[in-house]
Amino acid sequence: MILGTGWASFRVLADIDTKKADVTVVSPRNHLLFTPMLASSALGTVNQRSICQPVRPMVAKKNATYYESAVVAIDRDGKKVTCRTDAGQEYKLPYDKLVVGVGFQPNDFNIPGVKEHALFMKETADATRFKDHVLEKLEEASYHHALDSDLTVSDEERARIQDLLTFVVVGGGPTGVELAGELTDFLYSEGAKLYGHLKHYIRVHMFTYDILNTFDQDLQDYAISHLQRKQNVQIHLGAFVQKVEPDVVHVKTGESLMSIRYGTLVWCAGIKPHPFIKSFGFMMNDRGSQILVDPYLKVKGEEDIYAIGDCSTIEDYWLPQTAQVANQQGQYLAKVLSQKDPINIKPFEFHNKGTMAYLGGFNAVMAKLPGISKVTGFVAFLGWRFTYWFLQLSMRNRFMLLTDWLRTLIFGRDLTRFGPRSKPT
Ligand SMILES: Cc1cc2nc3c(=O)[nH]c(=O)nc-3n(C[C@H](O)[C@H](O)[C@H](O)COP(=O)(O)OP(=O)(O)OC[C@H]3O[C@@H](n4cnc5c(N)ncnc54)[C@H](O)[C@@H]3O)c2cc1C
Repeated sequence: MILGTGWASFRVLADIDTKKADVTVVSPRNHLLFTPMLASSALGTVNQRSICQPVRPMVAKKNATYYESAVVAIDRDGKKVTCRTDAGQEYKLPYDKLVVGVGFQPNDFNIPGVKEHALFMKETADATRFKDHVLEKLEEASYHHALDSDLTVSDEERARIQDLLTFVVVGGGPTGVELAGELTDFLYSEGAKLYGHLKHYIRVHMFTYDILNTFDQDLQDYAISHLQRKQNVQIHLGAFVQKVEPDVVHVKTGESLMSIRYGTLVWCAGIKPHPFIKSFGFMMNDRGSQILVDPYLKVKGEEDIYAIGDCSTIEDYWLPQTAQVANQQGQYLAKVLSQKDPINIKPFEFHNKGTMAYLGGFNAVMAKLPGISKVTGFVAFLGWRFTYWFLQLSMRNRFMLLTDWLRTLIFGRDLTRFGPRSKPT
């Protein structure tokens, strides 16, 4: 039984030899989301469907069984999981061997107001919400001066329009950087063309402690310089958000405090475990945040339970919480579970195939690639696109991505706002 349809779990399903195992998948999400391109889909550069891999075709191909539910409890003695549907119904399913790959969730670090007022970037629904929100702010800024039925723009109205068009990205990891890149691509291309009357009001801020901290210093400097000079992002380094109010964010940088009025604030500042992980009763790491597994990805102290991806950590072998690690762990575990004779199995070993991030403006950084230590600029952008295109799990998605990129290049991004304005009759 495989829990989850993320990078780790989906890979187990895709690679496992179903002649040797009956496979059941339980996950509330019926698709794999190609997270590294979520930011691209958030502004419509690519379609969300092009970066999602539905689970049903893979389940059918592998002759497996799928239950669209979340697992809420594990009975390790009785070897049963309790599943809960979206409607709240509960049922139990038996397992022989269990693979836990339930991922992580965004972390608001209990900072007041983040949960209530920030947007997040984790799931497809977050990307839809973000795009709808950005378009809503642009429209609101377009009609705001007319709300008093007087078409002249007063100083007060001008200040409010400025606030509505102030965009704040919190977090300078790959998600925050890529989102800032995509957002500014959109704002200074379609935004400037289609909302020409507003282009002078647009401001994009990034608040972060540092930028792309897993990259070498020269690549971090390159990213900062590109975002500031070419993408017009005002970067505030060493910054800690202290409080978020509906339209003001309060930030501490060193000893100084600053407050900025915003129209859009997106939180890309970290991840934390799902609360239910602790209730599973597994041995956890010292911080109590990840399930502790042995070098064979088996949960410490358990016989037939494995944990992979973001929700787990290997004892004495720290690895980053990335799709690359999760995917390789899924590959490894599928092999282990497909073997009749588990005696000759070697411990899991991670092979870093490189890291990359899109910076906007057809520019990217790539590092630690096999044979190449670093690449920047347009060549890195091409490498970034090609790598993610190649890594798609189906020809369908590769085809859709290619047509999306071509469509955006020729016709621009799609600005339809389905969300709140399109209600079912
Ligand atoms: C916007 C974004 C951009 C990223 N960019 C990169 C990148 O460029 N490179 C990189 O290497 N990494 C990137 N990452 C990190 C990467 O996505 C994660 O490390 C990876 O998704 C971890 O895989 P996972 O399988 O552990 O978890 P996930 O992919 O999060 O999957 C978890 C699965 O578990 C399911 N689940 C949740 N609760 C339950 C439950 N109770 N019962 C059953 N199933 C459940 C979920 O529905 C989901 O299907 C990015 C992440 C984000 C959010």
